Amino acid sequence: MSIDAQPTASHFINGQYVEDPSGAEIPVVFAATGKRIATVHAGTPDVVDQALAAAKAAQAEWVAWSPRDRGRVLTRAAQIIRDRNEELSQLETLDTGKPIQETRVADATSAADALEYFGGLAAGLTGEHIPLGEDWVYTVREPLGVCVGIGAWNYPTQIACWKAAPALACGNAMVFKPSETTPLCALKIAEILIEAGLPKGVFNVVQGMGETGAQLVTDPRVNKVSLTGSVPTGKKVYAAAAAEMKHVTMELGGKSPMIVFEDADIENAVGGAILGNFYSTGQICSNGTRVFVHRAIKEKFLTRLAERTAQAVIGDPRDDATSIGPMVSEAQMNIVLGYLDKGREDGARLVCGGERLDRDGFYIAPTVFADVTDDMTIAQEEIFGPVMAVLDFDDEDDVIARANATPYGLSAGVFTRDLSRAHRVIGRLQAGSCFINSYNDAPVEAPFGGVKMSGVGRENSKAALDHYSQMKSVYVRMGDVEAPF
Ligand code: NDP
Repeated sequence: MSIDAQPTASHFINGQYVEDPSGAEIPVVFAATGKRIATVHAGTPDVVDQALAAAKAAQAEWVAWSPRDRGRVLTRAAQIIRDRNEELSQLETLDTGKPIQETRVADATSAADALEYFGGLAAGLTGEHIPLGEDWVYTVREPLGVCVGIGAWNYPTQIACWKAAPALACGNAMVFKPSETTPLCALKIAEILIEAGLPKGVFNVVQGMGETGAQLVTDPRVNKVSLTGSVPTGKKVYAAAAAEMKHVTMELGGKSPMIVFEDADIENAVGGAILGNFYSTGQICSNGTRVFVHRAIKEKFLTRLAERTAQAVIGDPRDDATSIGPMVSEAQMNIVLGYLDKGREDGARLVCGGERLDRDGFYIAPTVFADVTDDMTIAQEEIFGPVMAVLDFDDEDDVIARANATPYGLSAGVFTRDLSRAHRVIGRLQAGSCFINSYNDAPVEAPFGGVKMSGVGRENSKAALDHYSQMKSVYVRMGDVEAPF
């Protein structure tokens, strides 16, 4: 890998890189080596102010563009991203530690999909004509104004574009704050959008920790906040936004169930469980981390799962062959190691993995616990690492009740050859993004988001446009006004 991780400067504001070394230093550590590969600085209050001022001014210009012209900028940016997929994938790997075989197909490509999709929809953002006899009403979809995007560290390129693409298509401007753990990728997106013809100031990136995010959320110039992160942060951000009645989208955590019935295709179910627990080293909010397997096929399932997991290539994420990389950071690795201890203490049966690997970087072996019961901590809390909990069940009604017995509701999956059962069960599961005989597919055409504590609103699909625009209705009277006096 030949690219240099150090960005030109920490922030991207009003069409250019901006540095302010007086902000706190944020080291960027490559998770596979534990070594620093770049340094950025947190945005000072002055930097945040510059970004919001730029966004506010630019939005007034951007909204005056025809929607088709706005869309064209986004689709042009998508093309540039595709042309530079290799370079962007390498940067994503350095930023997150995710294997290059994943980042080549799941990050910049997903970002480009979002820009292309919402670029195409921009001109279709029309209202309605509502006839009332002689009079009539028409509706107009207007942008919200300045939107703030706050990202998590697991998909820095994708998260920036899943938020920016619908926001910009609707005529909003955005200030995006990446996670302090992965500050690099969003800067490239900002650069590319300018190259694609976006007016300066429409998309800005400010680095920082939680307090920078909090400053952005509470600023009166901000009309909407979209957060991807944990439930505790979601509660804080939602409350802060509510104080001034700001719109929110919350993409939060989960403890999603995957249910494998006795008639399931075992290879497919094992494949789904692997994808839904070990892809991106398990650092995905929608993961199916509670795998309920019918008792009749449990041992067969576990045997194939262990055999296939043994084939994982754990290594340097820059190597083409690597299929499992390190955890994103030492802190996240330590959180996950704590859960491994908890699983053992609570009496779960370790099928494979269960430990840190003896090498540089933040590596944890892909881990399967069997005989997990509903009351164990590893069956209740989001771990955000390569840790699968396999639970037994016998009865359909019972497994549905247990699957729903969680405060979360992001995703759910069902594996069965009986399609009536598949639809019946999915219909009763409390989750926003569901899968039948599959797991974790997230095409831009499909709405993505959770119910219960997992979130508010939806990303992707036409539904996202509703969350970045507001409706104006206009009553048109054709005759005289009849006033009482
Ligand atoms: P957080 O929820 O702590 O942070 C998410 C983002 O919000 C980060 O950019 C963070 O900044 C920012 N932030 C933190 N506090 C505030 C605040 N008061 N106001 C505004 N912004 C704020 O997630 P982490 O990235 O620290 O990950 C912790 C846990 O979150 C994981 O273990 C996992 O359970 C979950 N998670 C969920 C994800 C999902 O997709 N739903 C993705 C990643 C993590 P900073 O990073 O600087 O703290």
